[in-house]
Amino acid sequence: MNWLGYGVLAIIGVFVIVTIIRAGFFTQKKTEYPPLADEAVDEARVLESLAQAIQIPTVSYPEHERVNWDEFARFRDFLTTRYPLITKNLEREIVCEASVIYRWKGTNPALEPIAMLSHQDVVPVTPGTEDDWEQPAFSGYNDGEFLWGRGSLDMKNHLICVMEAVEALLAEGFVPERDVYLCFGHDEEVVASDDAGAKSIAELLRSRGIHLDSVLDEGGAWLKASVPHVLDGWLAGIGISEKGYADFEIALSAKGGHSSAPPNHSALGELALAIQDVEKHQFKTKLFPFLPQLLESVGRVSSYPARLLLCNTRLIKALIRAVMKRIPMAACMVRTTTAATMAMGSPACNVLPQRASAIFNFRMLPGTTIADVEKHLHKVIRNKNAEIRFVKGKEASPFSPTDSRAFQTIARLCEQMNDKSIIAPYLVMGGTDACFYEIICENVNRFSPFEITAALMGCTHATNERIPVATVAKGVVFFKRYLREMAGKA
Ligand SMILES: [Zn+2]
Repeated sequence: MNWLGYGVLAIIGVFVIVTIIRAGFFTQKKTEYPPLADEAVDEARVLESLAQAIQIPTVSYPEHERVNWDEFARFRDFLTTRYPLITKNLEREIVCEASVIYRWKGTNPALEPIAMLSHQDVVPVTPGTEDDWEQPAFSGYNDGEFLWGRGSLDMKNHLICVMEAVEALLAEGFVPERDVYLCFGHDEEVVASDDAGAKSIAELLRSRGIHLDSVLDEGGAWLKASVPHVLDGWLAGIGISEKGYADFEIALSAKGGHSSAPPNHSALGELALAIQDVEKHQFKTKLFPFLPQLLESVGRVSSYPARLLLCNTRLIKALIRAVMKRIPMAACMVRTTTAATMAMGSPACNVLPQRASAIFNFRMLPGTTIADVEKHLHKVIRNKNAEIRFVKGKEASPFSPTDSRAFQTIARLCEQMNDKSIIAPYLVMGGTDACFYEIICENVNRFSPFEITAALMGCTHATNERIPVATVAKGVVFFKRYLREMAGKA
């Protein structure tokens, strides 16, 4: 071996020794906080409120005429009677047909208000799957372990716990210094809607010259992170941004005619080639700083062998990227995703299509715009006869800062209320109403204070959506503390 070989060996040797030692010290730094004051919660009442809320099927649809608006009226009436102190003390406005704003006036008008967001609507139960539910989807049935029903996780749990927290604080005589807005949209589940309730609320507040100190909406939760002998914690994912959304239609036209005398490629065949062009040219991957930070946070509470790898996340960024882009569940965190979702050809088996079209759904990373996606499509589709049409979408959100009072309060409460919390600021893959508030707020955080397993999380929007009974009251305690800290002090 020559001197170069020895040199390389020596460098590897030093790296290994440093890593072995570093991994030993690579542990979570715990901050000692003064103990939290107890918060009273009437758990039985909270569970009953949630059950009643689930029993009102506030299902939203993209088509206005399909929505049963009476159910939304019933839901508002339910809130009015179930929360008499809120009804008496807060001003309520109905915006955009069924969205609701409550304003809890603070004592100091010089301070910027805060907003607590939720959506009242839920997704429908897929027709034909009603009987697959162990308990009926709108039963709100409580079997002692789970409370069942559509909206129990997304997100009547969150909405009801916010209402319970405010009602309890009112009963205890708490007076906020800042204005507190409770903003409940009615069509969050209708993705990228042009006339979203939340958009109207945010625009209305802006028209009144209101700028918000902070917004808290759904997004992350305490997710059980448990791998035997490696990790036993709760990942407290706090969403600080959300991906963009864009639907594009790609279409090709042809003469059509009888299918007995077809050309080599019909319009549908040409379209298939265009679809392949798009799928073969995926967007480049990008590792935002939150990801190595997240892996490091997980590493600090993992067992020693895992720490050997995870203490070097900053050095092995390229490797992380390469691994993540091969796993679809992980790839969406490092790239703008491309999904061909719908296609249409001719109306009959024996007719050549005069026009064939497909829809692509893109979820953009922050930094990639709808215009960038359109440019990308024009570049990668070789057939220049392809029509490329933007259908609908919304831009990705900017990242909210993690050194804000709002983020720090959420993170600290997480640590204090669950000592196995691993705080993880992250990018929300789906969409929330929170993005509409960016026009009046820089501190937009997305966190629902409930302890959930990944398996349960998978029931959201699916069959057997249910929430563990034991975690519901924790949501009220969290929101009471959050409100005391965020609205009670300057
Ligand atoms: Zn939701």
